Amino acid sequence: MLALVSIRVSSAFDGGNGEAVQTDSPDDVRVRIVKDVGDRFMQWFYFRVTGHAGAPLTVRIVNAHEGSYRAGYEGYRAVASTDRKQWVRVPTEYDGTQLTIRHPGGADAVWLAYFAPFSMERHADLIARCQQHPSVTLESLGHTLDGQDLDLLRFGEGPLQAWVIARQHPGETMAEHWMEGFLARMLDDADPVARRLREAATFHVVPNMNPDGSRRGHLRTNAAGENLNRAWMEPSMEKSPEVYLVRQRMEATGVHFCLDVHGDEELPFNFIAGADGVPSLTERQAGWLTEYRSALARISPDFQTQHGYAPAAPGQANLRLCTNWVAERFGGLAMTLEQPFKDASNHPDPVFGWSPARCRNLASDCIAALWAILPELAPESDA
Ligand code: ZN
Repeated sequence: MLALVSIRVSSAFDGGNGEAVQTDSPDDVRVRIVKDVGDRFMQWFYFRVTGHAGAPLTVRIVNAHEGSYRAGYEGYRAVASTDRKQWVRVPTEYDGTQLTIRHPGGADAVWLAYFAPFSMERHADLIARCQQHPSVTLESLGHTLDGQDLDLLRFGEGPLQAWVIARQHPGETMAEHWMEGFLARMLDDADPVARRLREAATFHVVPNMNPDGSRRGHLRTNAAGENLNRAWMEPSMEKSPEVYLVRQRMEATGVHFCLDVHGDEELPFNFIAGADGVPSLTERQAGWLTEYRSALARISPDFQTQHGYAPAAPGQANLRLCTNWVAERFGGLAMTLEQPFKDASNHPDPVFGWSPARCRNLASDCIAALWAILPELAPESDA
């Protein structure tokens, strides 16, 4: 007698999101995404399918049309893995209601995700690896609402205070893949640029600004349903301790350079948004932004300056965002780096799309761009 097919969908793991709606047949598996706490946002998915005995799979995300960035599903391909290491793009269609993902099968378990995941276990490995470096200080700034540590890595001894933070939006896992590349290069003692930058600057690095949302499988919010990148004007220990604690430390150190790393659901490009519309914007700040962007575009063919967000009108910047709040408060160069969920379509990769390896390489190039403009930024040159 043939065994009955018993397909299962699970997401009860670090970063998981997706629950089974119907699992009768491998060519009609239906899944729905669960909203973040706060009931406003959803788009991130990450689940495992088993019990299809290696048959090809057709998986439909039935509530894709309720996604926060529906245009993000247009021209998008999901990622799949059977070894949880390599994530390849698979055929995906969005019909305006459902997102249909096809996997060729061949393995008993298949993991599907919105982008290559980055678990809190991997975060712990990253932190542990970095603290082996003799010039790194690891500190927990405090606890999140779920009781996780908010990790800060500090290194370098120069007067320029450089803050680099990532993953305020937990579903933007590319931001922490970027962090892996950033920290690997910055802590490479054979890298002359990294060594010079560590002499010129003190780096304060928060590799994951939203540990709770990351572990819970959220797209955008923390455990209290707060969108952290709208909490910078009035953070609180009750609702947004992650921002409250980082801001408090920024007040103690000052900020000359701040890079806040994100991912964008819709635009198939890497780009940088600046603090264009902050009320106190100076010509120097505007000049630094132009110089940094041009330097990065010269260094990395994966970066470009044609496509991005429209700049805010003068004085109209939303100061609840990290980049704007920091630029207004400290007067330095503050920027938001956006990487695509889709691909960098100025330089596409048909197999992997935008991928963890490319995130890491871009991070290395962001370091080179900082090196390129360092003479302009140095605090000694303050008028
Ligand atoms: Zn974001």
